[in-house]
Amino acid sequence: MLEILHRIVQEVNAAPDLGEALNVIVKRVKQAIKTDVCSVYLTDFDRREHVLLATEGLRQDAVGKVSLPMHRGLVGLVCERAETVNLDDATEHPRYLAKHSTGETQYRGFLGVPIIQNRKVLGVLVVRQVESRKFDDNEVTFLFTLAAQLAGAITHARASGELNQLQPSRKPLNRYLSGQPASPGVGTGQAVVAYQLADLDAVPSRTTDNVEADVTAFKDAVSLTRQELENVKNRLSKELPVEELALFDALLLMLGSDTLVNQTVLRIEQGQWAQGALRDTIETHARMFDNMDDVYLRERASDIRNLGRRLLMHLQTEKPREMNFPEKTILVGDDISPVQLAEVPPERLAGIVSAKGSSSSHVSILARAMGAPAVMGVSELPVGRLEGLDIIIDGYRGRVYVSPDPSVTDEYARLAQEESEISSELEMMRGLKSETTDGVTVPLYLNTGLISDVMDMGMNEAEGVGLHRTELLYIVRDRFPGEEVQVESYQRMLTMFAPRPVILRTLDIGGDKPLPYFPFTESNPFLGWRGVRISLDHPEIFLTQIRAMIRANIGLNNLRIMLPMITKVSEVEELQMLIQRAHEELLEEGYKAELPPVGVMIEVPSAVYQIDEIARRVDFLSVGTNDLTQYLLAVDRNNPRVAAIFDDMHPVVLRALVQIVEGAATYQRPVSVCGELAGNPLAAVLLLGMGVDSLSMSAGSLLKIKWVIRSYSRARAKSLLQAALRMTDARQVRELMEKSLDEMGLGGLVRPGK
Ligand code: PEP
Ligand code: MG
Repeated sequence: MLEILHRIVQEVNAAPDLGEALNVIVKRVKQAIKTDVCSVYLTDFDRREHVLLATEGLRQDAVGKVSLPMHRGLVGLVCERAETVNLDDATEHPRYLAKHSTGETQYRGFLGVPIIQNRKVLGVLVVRQVESRKFDDNEVTFLFTLAAQLAGAITHARASGELNQLQPSRKPLNRYLSGQPASPGVGTGQAVVAYQLADLDAVPSRTTDNVEADVTAFKDAVSLTRQELENVKNRLSKELPVEELALFDALLLMLGSDTLVNQTVLRIEQGQWAQGALRDTIETHARMFDNMDDVYLRERASDIRNLGRRLLMHLQTEKPREMNFPEKTILVGDDISPVQLAEVPPERLAGIVSAKGSSSSHVSILARAMGAPAVMGVSELPVGRLEGLDIIIDGYRGRVYVSPDPSVTDEYARLAQEESEISSELEMMRGLKSETTDGVTVPLYLNTGLISDVMDMGMNEAEGVGLHRTELLYIVRDRFPGEEVQVESYQRMLTMFAPRPVILRTLDIGGDKPLPYFPFTESNPFLGWRGVRISLDHPEIFLTQIRAMIRANIGLNNLRIMLPMITKVSEVEELQMLIQRAHEELLEEGYKAELPPVGVMIEVPSAVYQIDEIARRVDFLSVGTNDLTQYLLAVDRNNPRVAAIFDDMHPVVLRALVQIVEGAATYQRPVSVCGELAGNPLAAVLLLGMGVDSLSMSAGSLLKIKWVIRSYSRARAKSLLQAALRMTDARQVRELMEKSLDEMGLGGLVRPGK
């Protein structure tokens, strides 16, 4: 039996498509177990039925057409229980269906096993026998193993669209394609497929026949690309704030970097032709980012490849085709680049859908800044067949409807109407105080930097910057930034907000996001060399940054310094000594510099348990709920496989937050929250109930959170918090808060419509 199993698995693996794999399975299983029938049913949850997908022993013309109702019959029972059903005489079972269209009724022996992937039943694999027959253990495990094999194949076929071809007569029922919600909102319009840039992978290796001409051609391509980027950047400068435009600066910087230009030229000089040299340089550079665990940094690989394709296009002297953008354009593409997005006139952009990418892609950052809904990572997206089709995208839930039914269109038209009502209500929050109905003020601050969001709105609405991530300054370079470069960058931030306070966080790189020019690998990067651990081991890097921060603050005096990833008291003390040293040195050098307030991030459980000892030594505390959740729940914040377990509204996270607020109160130190939780309307009420002093979030959340704060009293928030703290899991807390926001008429802040 084992050998037969082995052979079938090999045959299934070698099958060119799912249809063939299914035929192999039903045929071979029928032979191996010597049964009368073997069939595979696919479960369709939308239509609530099980469709016959392949059979050996039943009528072939039933395949793809005949289906069994979801909760009836024995196949339905296997699916419901997600367990094997093995009956020697099926006709005696109460769930036995006496009659159905496949003509299976005269069979007594029945064995059905569920096909399961990621806890979800995808279908049922069934064998039947005319006579009574109890299938033995060997036969059960045999089927079990094949079902597991099938689960992977079905999932893959669903993603590639192949599954629909197997059931041509069954038009998908208002089916939508799923991806990652990357920018909230609902968008309706016509698909415009972003043109395919030249394909780097298709470039063959060849030797150059004229080094000089190839170098010149490459340099021309670089300057054409540079010009293009400059143009796009200029065009967008009216739409986007300086910080967002920095994305284009980063691309321009890459374009001018030694790595890209010199290495390509070197490769040409060594004999490769220009296109091959470019391909190799881009690939080497991009691969370095591919291997990083951090999603944000991994996305940089795609920026580099896009830049490479654009350069190649110019090398091949292809002209991008002229594009026509309808009034409501939904830009779709395999891997949309920021430049392609920027080519759509902003007033015509209704949404973005990309097969690749995630919510940390540059495109997503731009989409959020431009207020355009976006769904990324839609792996099933049939890009080539979408041009001109009607599309609806739901940026809250990550859904894309292609040529939707009128019922879906009507529903989303209604939601869009409600959305615009909500936007105008949100607009009314501008300029109002962030104050509860019983007079408690909760100042709202802005998160900027790595995923920066200094929109006009953020600039005017925020009380200052609660978290400026300084990593970007280091990431976009090919070496550590010097003191002067840093002074300039920090001065820009401090000046933009003065006299409002700006919290600059010291460098928080680590094992999971090494700098390209400072590489190291670790088996447990999140528990490794990260944040201040690197600062303490490399005081020269830390001191340069601190000197730059203190110098940038001269004459402005709105700087606060924040230390990330603090795990123990001695780290705080040692870093404070370094900060004092940098300050004293600057005084000695004649700078009239002030020593700024210094605070720490609380984002590691050990810091929570020592909270009063830490609070005593610093000026302020800010909770990084992203990392705190990761470390409390032992779940990697960037691993999609465990993404469903990562929930920052878990009661355990709430309890830790209460402990932090209480500990800080012992020494009257202010506590802020600057992780994603602070910008979540469901959670803001609970943070208010805890007595958190301020909240820091991305610009897109500011007005929403202000609306929430202005709708609740502190007393009500406290009683909701008490209820939440008694709960055992995050789902209950979410339900509690969703219900509460609904009651306050604020449900529209967390889903489409009102
Ligand atoms: C956090 O961990 O919650 C945080 C704000 O910092 P970062 O996301 O940059 O790690
Ligand atoms: Mg953190």
